[in-house]
Amino acid sequence: MVDPWKAHGTVFEEERAPNGAVERVGTVFLAGAECPFTCSFCDLWRWTLEGPTPPGALPIQLGRALEAFRGEDPLPERLKLYNASNFFDRRAVPAEDVPRIAELAQPFRAVTVESHASMVGPEAVEFAALVSGTLEVAIGLETIHPGAMSHLNKRLDLARFDRAAAFLAEQHIDLRVFVLLGAPYVPPAESLEWTVRTVEYAASRGAGRIAVIPVRGGNGELERLQGLDAFAPPTLAQLEQALDHCLPMRTAAVTVDLWDVARLPSCDACRSGRIARLARMNVTGRTEPPISCTACA
Ligand code: SF4
Ligand SMILES: [Zn+2]
Repeated sequence: MVDPWKAHGTVFEEERAPNGAVERVGTVFLAGAECPFTCSFCDLWRWTLEGPTPPGALPIQLGRALEAFRGEDPLPERLKLYNASNFFDRRAVPAEDVPRIAELAQPFRAVTVESHASMVGPEAVEFAALVSGTLEVAIGLETIHPGAMSHLNKRLDLARFDRAAAFLAEQHIDLRVFVLLGAPYVPPAESLEWTVRTVEYAASRGAGRIAVIPVRGGNGELERLQGLDAFAPPTLAQLEQALDHCLPMRTAAVTVDLWDVARLPSCDACRSGRIARLARMNVTGRTEPPISCTACA
């Protein structure tokens, strides 16, 4: 059961900025209404409420979650508010709560929220005006593979993404982009190539931060697609190759998402060493020599 008055949790981490500096980031995972989109690879609905977010719930969740920040010295520079949906969907974030959320975010130099590209509009500009720091909007581009894009159930095309990216740039709002590794309907042999191409595309549209997210099974739909040979779980080796390819990119800070990464298929003998290498490269931005392992060489 998801409690509308209690955030799911808080995570503190270090993150590389586009200029190479390392930022302290605090992420609050808010509980709210389910996203109206039903992307085939997504399981965020597990963390959402049955109906709309009750007015007043998010400021209470955030206020309580920020108590966990008190022990952080120095205070994180960036606050990420992730609500497993779209921050500008008023069913997920009631309009009357937005000013109070912005007020609670005042101590931070930057604030990141997530949104589907089609929900980026005047609400983003209004929120940017309310927060004292820089606003960044995180958008899932996922893949630019034309066949896969139309099959993901995301109702997103490149023209819509481009319009959202251009709108944010005009409004001086930063853009973060999520890119999938192992998107359903991308042929497994082309998986890495399409991830790199999608990262390059996002950077060309002004994304300053790009996170590569390996698709993880477990939501039922991916298992169904796997049975139809339309999905193959990405491997840890592919994730390493994705970062090795994209790290030298200088226009955007590219990282790989390490949440639950130990679940990716890999060699047991060297898995932890490979994950530790990725974690270091995410933060430093410097390529390290590949891990050698006699068990899987
Ligand atoms: S738009 Fe985002 S939150 Fe909504 S279903 Fe798709 S991936 Fe999940
Ligand atoms: Zn190994």
